[in-house]
Amino acid sequence: RPVIAIVGRPNVGKSTIFNRVIGDRLAIVEDKPGVTRDRLYGSGEWNGKAFSIVDTGGIEIDGEDEIMKSVRMQAELAIEEADVIIFMVDAKAGLTHADDEVARMLFRSRKPVVVAVNKVDNFNRMDDVYEFYSLGFGEPIAISGSHGLGIGDLLETAVEKLPEPKQDEYDDDVIKVAVIGRPNVGKSSLVNALLGEERVIVSNMAGTTRDAIDTPFERDGQRYVLIDTAGMRKRGKVYETTEKYSVMRALKAIERADVVLVLINGEEGIIEQDKHIAGFAHEAGKASIFVVNKWDVVEKDEKTMQQFTQSIRDHFLFMTYAPIVFLSAKTKQRLQKLIPVVNHVSEQHALRIQTHLLNDVIADAVAMNPPPSDKGKRLRINYVTQVAVKPPTIVVFVNDPELMHFSYQRYLENKIRGAFNFEGTPIRIYTRRKS
Ligand code: GDP
Repeated sequence: RPVIAIVGRPNVGKSTIFNRVIGDRLAIVEDKPGVTRDRLYGSGEWNGKAFSIVDTGGIEIDGEDEIMKSVRMQAELAIEEADVIIFMVDAKAGLTHADDEVARMLFRSRKPVVVAVNKVDNFNRMDDVYEFYSLGFGEPIAISGSHGLGIGDLLETAVEKLPEPKQDEYDDDVIKVAVIGRPNVGKSSLVNALLGEERVIVSNMAGTTRDAIDTPFERDGQRYVLIDTAGMRKRGKVYETTEKYSVMRALKAIERADVVLVLINGEEGIIEQDKHIAGFAHEAGKASIFVVNKWDVVEKDEKTMQQFTQSIRDHFLFMTYAPIVFLSAKTKQRLQKLIPVVNHVSEQHALRIQTHLLNDVIADAVAMNPPPSDKGKRLRINYVTQVAVKPPTIVVFVNDPELMHFSYQRYLENKIRGAFNFEGTPIRIYTRRKS
């Protein structure tokens, strides 16, 4: 849960505000050896948003030097721990030297700061409040701790600045698999078939959004989460009534996934909508697998699978990297082939190639097929490096990025794939100037 810290000189009224925010909830005094200042932790809530609130200067002391030391330390703690900082100042005392110094520290930290001007007795006379604009954190909020005024405004402003809750609530080693595809392609059936075989740890844990149902499972020591967009409808909801809505849900599921299973109806073949859906996964930089479902009802001879493969390749020219698995969710035919492919593409998605290996491959590629010249200028590649995974992202440093043509970039991508595979994952290649 996000943290709001209160920082300010002794006697500005931090504890009064702290106590008003936590209400009758319990405050916890941190009792760590070696921590010279007490820290008070409590929890609060505003407009349905829960947060922890910390008063970093529990003990109030006197003496100018001691005061400076105290607030400096508070500010440091707050900068370290807080998502939003409430900086409290005193309307009666006016702007002090210590306030300025704390303001500078907070400013440098780039943390969101709300200035609360306490001890405002007359909310009709705000002159004393406006002085604090000069701290540089926007509009100061007038409050009165003793009368309990302005605290709603303060919390409103602070909560607004809190970061969005983290979407991704799973550990890094969990493979998140989204199951997408047009209605009736067999998403629910596939999810049920997979879970039927696996040891379900927690069944049907609600997802972070109401757009999908997340179900964790484990197999051979590897943990997975299935993100199932179809499940909601199966619970009797009417979400699927409009096409627009189901696309939005697919998008959200894709965003949260590592691996996307793009379901294709083997019985009906590929339609335009399938292309859109697959395109989302590609654009989002996710690993993808084409899963051709309902393979049980397809009339087959020895060429059928090869023909279907060709049809997928023809329709999805931008995703030739994605492997294809044929199966039947209903009869569970070939179902056991799916998880090993999920593991494989998930690995490829996170693959990191050492810079020298990458540069060797590019050097060979350039030697074999030098970049064509353009109006007398020739592209020169100086250096290549992989800067990110999930998806693998490669930066090519060149003399002039405008000389890198799409076809040459695709040639380089093919060479990279030839050497390192990257099966199932898109690769992003950026060209930057550096001579
Ligand atoms: P969803 O809308 O994508 O979740 O699709 P469902 O899982 O609800 O399946 C739609 C229909 O297709 C249901 O009647 C399923 O029984 C059927 N179905 C799903 N998978 C298969 C399969 O592998 N083979 C056959 N023959 N039917 C299937």
